[in-house]
Amino acid sequence: MNASAPIEPLIADPLPRRPTVGVDVGGIVVGGGGPVVVQSMTNTDTADVDATVAQVARLAQAGSEIVRITVDRDESAAAVPRIRERLLRLGHDVPLVGDFHYIGHKLLADHPGCAEALAKYRINPGNVGFKDKKDRQFVQIVETAIRYGKPVRIGVNWGSLDQELLTRLMDENSTLAQPLPARAVMREAIIRSAIYSAQLAEETGLPREKIILSAKVSNVQDLIAVYRDLSRRTDHAIHLGLTEAGMGSKGIVASSAAMGILLQEGIGDTIRVSLTPEPGGDRTREVQVAQEILQTMGFRQFIPIVAACPGCGRTTSTLFQELAETIQADIRAAMPEWRERYPGVEALSVAVMGCIVNGPGESKHADIGISLPGTAETPSAPVYVDGQKVATLRGPDIAGDFRVMVADYIERRFGRRDAAE
Ligand code: SF4
Repeated sequence: MNASAPIEPLIADPLPRRPTVGVDVGGIVVGGGGPVVVQSMTNTDTADVDATVAQVARLAQAGSEIVRITVDRDESAAAVPRIRERLLRLGHDVPLVGDFHYIGHKLLADHPGCAEALAKYRINPGNVGFKDKKDRQFVQIVETAIRYGKPVRIGVNWGSLDQELLTRLMDENSTLAQPLPARAVMREAIIRSAIYSAQLAEETGLPREKIILSAKVSNVQDLIAVYRDLSRRTDHAIHLGLTEAGMGSKGIVASSAAMGILLQEGIGDTIRVSLTPEPGGDRTREVQVAQEILQTMGFRQFIPIVAACPGCGRTTSTLFQELAETIQADIRAAMPEWRERYPGVEALSVAVMGCIVNGPGESKHADIGISLPGTAETPSAPVYVDGQKVATLRGPDIAGDFRVMVADYIERRFGRRDAAE
C-alpha cells in the first residue's frame, strides 16, 4: 500500500460507440452515432383498438421512443391503421413496429393499410416459415418493406432459433477433433442466423440503412458474448435486449448487468428491457428501467434524479424515505408537462438525506438538497441550493416546504424567459 502515490489519470468513460449504419424508424434514428433509443412493447390484444391505443399512449408518455405491437392475425393487422390514426389525434407520433410470426408475409400483403401505418417490421428468422418456405416468406416481407420504404429488425431469439441451422452447426462441430461446447455452437448459430438473414435482405434490395439486428438470449453471459461477437462481425445498427429477463428485481438486475456491460463497450443503438409485469402491474416500468440504465451510466438524461441515502441506525423516522419517494413521484408525474415548460430540467439533481452526518455533504453536491434531522438531532433541516446553504426548515411541514422550494428552483432555473415576460 502506498498512500502517497502520485495521482494517475484514470479512465472513467465508456469506450467509444461502435460505428453502425443509422436507421430512420419513423423519424427516430437508431444507430449511426445517435443517442441510444428506448423502446418498449405492448401486451394488449392489438385487435382491441381502445386498449392498445391507451397502452401505447402511456408508454409514449413515459418516454418510449418506439413502441412494438403484436400483429398476429387479420383482426390485428386491420386494427393497426386505426390505432395509428387515433394516436396521432391524441398527439402521439410515436413510431409503431409490427411484430410478425409465420404469417407476416400474408398479413402485410392482405392489409396494405397496416404495411403503411407501421414504421418498421420485426421479423424473427426462426419462425418466418418452415423448410423452403422460410427464405421465400422472409423475402416477401423484405419486398413489402422495400415497396413501402420501411426498415426491418431481424430479431433472432434463441428460444425460436432456426433448428435446421443449429442442427447443421452441431453436426459440423461433432466432426471436429476438438468440438466446441454446445453453448458456443448455439451462440454461433444465433449470430449466423442474424448475419445470413441480413445478407438475404440486402441481396433482395433492402439497403443496410434499413436493417437493424438483434440476437436475444436469456442468459446474461451468453448475451454479452453473442453481442460482442455480432458487433465485431457487422456494422448493422444493433437492438439490445435480454429475452425472458423475468419479474421484479431479477429482471431489472439481469437486464442492467447485461446491457450495462455492452453499453460500456460501445455496443447497442437501441434497448428494450423485457420485464414480466406483475399481474395488473404497470407496463411503463420497462421504459422507466431502460431510461434509468442509460441515465445512471451517463449516456442520456431523461428525468431529474433524486439521490437519497439508504438510512441507518441514525434515522428512526421514515420521513426522509417518504420525502424522497414523494419528490420522485412528483417529478415523474410532472415530467410530460415540464419537458415543454422547462427545457433542460432532466439534468436537475435533488438530494434527500437522513441526518447531518453525511447529509450536508451530499446535499451540497446536488442542485437542491435537504438534510433531515436524524434521531436525537435538532428538529431542523438545512437546505442547500447550488452548493450553498439557503434555509433551515423547521416545524410540522418540512416535507411540504421543501417541495415548494424544489418547484421554485425549477421555475427560476429552467423556466423560459420569454414565457415569464
Ligand atoms: S446520511 Fe445519515 S441517516 Fe443517511 S445513511 Fe448516512 S449516516 Fe445514515
